[in-house]
Amino acid sequence: MCYDVMFLRRHAISTNTDKLRAIPLGGLGEFGMNMMAFEFGDHTVVVDCGITFPDAELLGVDIIIPDITYLRENRERIRAILLTHGHEDHIGALPYVLDEIDAPVYGTPFTLALVRAKLVEHGLADQIELREMHPGKPFDVGPFHVEFIHLTHSIIESGALALTTPLGTVIHTGDFKFDPTPTDQHVSDLHTLADYGRKGVLALFCDSTNVERPGMTPSERAVRERFAEIMAEAKGRVLISCFSTSMHRLQLVTDLAHEHQRRLCFIGRSMHQNAEIAQQMGRLRVPDGLLIPPQDLRKLPRNEVAIVLTGCQGQPMAALSRVAVKSHRFVTLEPGDDVVISARIIPGNEKSIFRMMDHLYRRGANVHYQDGSQPPVHVSGHASVEELKLMLNLVRPKYFIPIHGEYRQLFRHVETAKQLAAVSGEIFLLESGDVLEFDTKGARRTGRVKVGRVCIDVGTFDEVGDVILKERRHISEDGIVILILAINEHTGKLEADPQIVSRGFVALDEAKDLMESAREVILKTLEKSNIEEAGDWGVIKEKMRTALRRHFNEETGKRPMILPVILEV
Ligand SMILES: [Zn+2]
Ligand SMILES: [Zn+2]
Repeated sequence: MCYDVMFLRRHAISTNTDKLRAIPLGGLGEFGMNMMAFEFGDHTVVVDCGITFPDAELLGVDIIIPDITYLRENRERIRAILLTHGHEDHIGALPYVLDEIDAPVYGTPFTLALVRAKLVEHGLADQIELREMHPGKPFDVGPFHVEFIHLTHSIIESGALALTTPLGTVIHTGDFKFDPTPTDQHVSDLHTLADYGRKGVLALFCDSTNVERPGMTPSERAVRERFAEIMAEAKGRVLISCFSTSMHRLQLVTDLAHEHQRRLCFIGRSMHQNAEIAQQMGRLRVPDGLLIPPQDLRKLPRNEVAIVLTGCQGQPMAALSRVAVKSHRFVTLEPGDDVVISARIIPGNEKSIFRMMDHLYRRGANVHYQDGSQPPVHVSGHASVEELKLMLNLVRPKYFIPIHGEYRQLFRHVETAKQLAAVSGEIFLLESGDVLEFDTKGARRTGRVKVGRVCIDVGTFDEVGDVILKERRHISEDGIVILILAINEHTGKLEADPQIVSRGFVALDEAKDLMESAREVILKTLEKSNIEEAGDWGVIKEKMRTALRRHFNEETGKRPMILPVILEV
């Protein structure tokens, strides 16, 4: 081989491998589903792997994950999945992705404990290698030198990732705020961020969730004052609903319950599970004898218990919704009890949360929620604009790319960065699917890869394609059943016989018996519901859908799309 050819060949290879590419596969220009691929040469690492929850219109769909066509097509290059923290919008899609992609998963011990519980549920626990990562203990994945940098957030053991490649370092912030007084006193590692800034950072990818909020986000500790007031003044039970992963919040309630001589009870499957995981890891400290099981609640005077429960988003089947409509097995409300909703209203959930609050007020409860009053019952886990500026000024990247946000938030974050002198090069407003390429000459957008939303029916684990295709396929395979109910909102009783219409589901001769039995299921479901459940369309629709789905599946093995329609009478 002559020298020229050798030179050309080597040159070709080296220019090819000298590129770093960042490909957001979800979470940019949309809420949730956070996932991003970083590629250097033949090596890909994936940062986060999240889900989002569907709007109410997506009947029968339980969660939405990012389309992973791109990862599937490049599966042999994927060296690792790196997790910034354990929130669902960052780890929720792992079981589905790991079903197809074989790569070790890196996370902090608490994040991995949440992942492990998820994998056990999906029967994947033995197949996946989970590797712990710790602040100050960098490691290598192919050409990536990875360092986890602890940052505060509403969940513990959360942080940013610094990925150093031969081309330079990129920093992905994950979700964060700069909380100077987190409940575990484990503050953000500003020093390490600043060290990277001093050495020079090629690109910063930064959380944009709260870019619209002025100032600084209050500390997790800010809710303590209000919780303490409520506990001190409460004459009856105190119920507090928050996300089950909010360990700071769980610790605060635990401490306050202890101080105010109230026994503590965790209600809801995920609340139990996560509290137990955290306790085992020493990340939730509960004094001996404080905890009681749900069945012991009625043995205690009402002013001697505090209950932490799921359902802060008004999910119809979660604990607080059930309590609100008087259908929870162990928990009842009496006038004068206090209910605290310690979470933000995730966009899209307004209706169900407000409906649940109406029920709580009807029961005579004192309801405390995020209504702007101070001190707050909830604080955000995301950085407000001054903290975002601080991040930019510490890291001083050459290139800046806002992530985690809808388009307007990414746009506002770009505008914020332009006000500062922190970014020496260019700012890119990317959306999911855009490919950003870095080399020695600079950075540029080079194209797009396939992205999208994939609906998952958790009951069957079936991936059901994108939204419209999913609906069409569902109807074409198993048909559609429309249930028409005329329910009197005030009595909770039927005003007319339920009507069931089906298309493409069963043959006419089979249909008669099946619809007759379905009618019985409907009547039984209604009978077992109290007036408030029956009068609450969100709740009763969900109950009808679940009952009919089970019935049709048992009788026919099919899962038709079920559309309950409630008539106003
Ligand atoms: Zn997030
Ligand atoms: Zn988060």
